[in-house]
Amino acid sequence: MNIIELHKKFNTQRKCIEHLEKIRWGKLPTCPYCNEQEHIADRKNEFRYQCNNCGRSFSVLVDTVFEDTNMPLPIWFQLIALMINSKMGVSSKELGRQLGITQKSAWFNAMKVRCAMLDEGDFLDGIVEMDEAYMGGKPRKPVIKYPDNVPILSRVYEKRGRGTRKVPVVGIVARQSGQVATKVIEKLTTRNLLAMFRRYVKEDGAILITDEFSSYKKFDEVVEHLTIDHTKEFARGVIHTNTIEGFWSLLKNGIKGNFRAISKKYLPFYLAEYSYKYSKRRRADIGFSQTIKNAVAEDKCLVNLKPKGDVKKIVYKKKKL
Ligand SMILES: [Zn+2]
Repeated sequence: MNIIELHKKFNTQRKCIEHLEKIRWGKLPTCPYCNEQEHIADRKNEFRYQCNNCGRSFSVLVDTVFEDTNMPLPIWFQLIALMINSKMGVSSKELGRQLGITQKSAWFNAMKVRCAMLDEGDFLDGIVEMDEAYMGGKPRKPVIKYPDNVPILSRVYEKRGRGTRKVPVVGIVARQSGQVATKVIEKLTTRNLLAMFRRYVKEDGAILITDEFSSYKKFDEVVEHLTIDHTKEFARGVIHTNTIEGFWSLLKNGIKGNFRAISKKYLPFYLAEYSYKYSKRRRADIGFSQTIKNAVAEDKCLVNLKPKGDVKKIVYKKKKL
């Protein structure tokens, strides 16, 4: 949805609330504390309801990424649209400028939107490519060695690729559906890689393509597995990992252009954003509405998924500041 359409449709708090209520509850407001649907009284004009079963009052924002926010919902909706519409990502500085809010609240609320982007979608199937990239951390610094206190002028740069101190991220992309799944995996062992593969890929009928990294060797026993030796060639017909490498370059350029370096702690949130947008890129029309849907689906965005611990820490720790 573009910004003009969005502004027409969701320019007041009431319109946004009504939209969220429709998505979250349908016709019947449901108490988030006791799931009561029948004995609910409407507190007119306050966007709040009173539950006569448990005695608590609530609004549609309870247990969603919008809970306890000071930012008006029309601005939230615009924030989401800006994030969804920019393929390469937007910095919090830029978001702040465009929305007329501080960089700090732009950063914080964008993090919450990223929680709504923690969406695993469907299982990946068919031909899938799996590969790792090394993300985050500070830019590579030259390490100067001084053996026996004699300065050596030549600089030894940190290694690239496997064996660096950066954070390894593993990605799997399904060629046909164009969906991608990503995950930070500290130790690239066969066991960890296989666990990720099983979590995201529908094994039945899948064909896996990787490079010759030794941790993928045992995959032969589990799935139809083809490898490409990158020391010799980039592609042999359909056997290549160009699709996942395309995603890595999008991710790396996006992060470099907008965020410089991202700490390990926050990396999963940015991965969620880029993977989500990449997976939805062929269905741009549903991107915005899907994100709103995820944002009010409390158990989806904040409870079930893995970076949840971190999310809560960020959400609640920052709130006290
Ligand atoms: Zn209740």
